[in-house]
Amino acid sequence: MREKLIFDLSREGRKGYSLSGNDCPELPLESILPSKFLRKVPADLPEMPESEVVRHFVRLSNLNHHVDKNMYPLGSCTMKYNPKINDYTCDLPGFSALHPLQPAETTQGALQLMYELAEMLREIAGMAAVTLQPAAGAHGELTGILLIKKYHEAQGSKRHKLLVVDSAHGTNPASAALAGYEIISVKGNADGRTDLDDLRSKLDGDVAALMLTNPNTIGLFEKDIQQIAKMVHDNGSLLYMDGANMNALLGITRPGDMGFDVMHYNLHKTFSAPHGGGGPGSGPVGVSAKLVPYLPVPIIEKEGTTYKLSYDRPESIGRMMNFYGNFAVMVRAYTYIRMLGPDGLRRVSENAIINANYLLSLLLESYDLPFPKPVMHEFCLSGDRQKKTHGVRTLDIAKRLLDYGFHAPTIYFPLIVSEALMIEPTETESKETLDVFAEALLSIAREAATTPEVVLAAPVTTPVKRLDEAMASRQLNICCSL
Ligand SMILES: *Cc1c(COP(=O)(O)O)cnc(C)c1O
Repeated sequence: MREKLIFDLSREGRKGYSLSGNDCPELPLESILPSKFLRKVPADLPEMPESEVVRHFVRLSNLNHHVDKNMYPLGSCTMKYNPKINDYTCDLPGFSALHPLQPAETTQGALQLMYELAEMLREIAGMAAVTLQPAAGAHGELTGILLIKKYHEAQGSKRHKLLVVDSAHGTNPASAALAGYEIISVKGNADGRTDLDDLRSKLDGDVAALMLTNPNTIGLFEKDIQQIAKMVHDNGSLLYMDGANMNALLGITRPGDMGFDVMHYNLHKTFSAPHGGGGPGSGPVGVSAKLVPYLPVPIIEKEGTTYKLSYDRPESIGRMMNFYGNFAVMVRAYTYIRMLGPDGLRRVSENAIINANYLLSLLLESYDLPFPKPVMHEFCLSGDRQKKTHGVRTLDIAKRLLDYGFHAPTIYFPLIVSEALMIEPTETESKETLDVFAEALLSIAREAATTPEVVLAAPVTTPVKRLDEAMASRQLNICCSL
């Protein structure tokens, strides 16, 4: 067996050492590297004690906000705590030292993990099959829409419209447009749910699918989902579910049973992989039986006790990702699901719903709720009262929360709520933390009434103070020193 070597280039003898620490006198460096490339004098490396290096990185990490530091109530993003055991499994050398071009005989463990993860996701959502390839929720949307497109093409139909509800995440219309569809917006009703009359009036022979988020973006369950599914299917169209809000449904109900044909999961939200700052993510897609032939290649198949990658899928939409997707995120999600089991997953959603309703009940004395409660795992308040009465906007409230040590909620989204503050506490926050967070928001409401200039000047405790938002987005400078 060939041993890996490390070299001590700074010492006289310039000997090679094996990883086990034994000298390898039979392999002098000169026999491996031409002597003209060998260093003549020791490298001038910076001399820093480990303690200073550790403190430097801890200081840097604390300049930012992260879920290990305090609550991160960013609505729709499900910033739940990421259990450290996820990273332990992810770091096991059998996973972390794999190369994507290794032959399948040598990667059976990884293939088994992916196969079983897809099976568990399939079961959780009640779909017929799942692909793990897409690298994020938005990428899953594009994959799902391409599957829908391929399905209609196979029926010889040229449907060119996609219906998207007006409270949808911006990625929904963006993905539909990327796949070449004309986007038709469907209105919500006074209850905050899909308006069935508006939907009916827009369902015609050109509609390929309706994209829906359930629970929707203001945290409300689409109670009429079975009727919606029937209307859509009777029209020969398909039903897509944006599964970013699966944190409210685990073990309680399943999109497949509601009548959805395609959905994406956000492993980095629902299944506790770290996210923020743009990735990495994982957005598997689940489909009903009629879409299975079009799934991306490769598919992981099990034959007896062996796993293999199958490319023999003549009707596939093709590849959606280099290699197999973001494997490390899959290992984390697998660990999380295995750790909790079916009962644990159900408790996750039950507690997410209880936490959201508890927090909402504390905030109602000072903030407006534009749509009826109870909510599912998140809710959307309006800062209209603060703006009209005191000239304090939702943006100012969000900035002031940073001074209280919290991340801001999602603001000005969804677009159907004016001065929106969209809050998702997740199940991993304790009652004590929720109480402190609620008190911060109530205190800011009091400040807005008595000392609005304090809120308007926020944040004052963060390394970077109030930014000129327009200039920051037009002249992005991510290198400026603090
Ligand atoms: C986060 C989110 C998306 C997009 O998912 P990414 O993984 O960020 O690409 C889509 N829809 C909703 C409702 C979301 O919350």
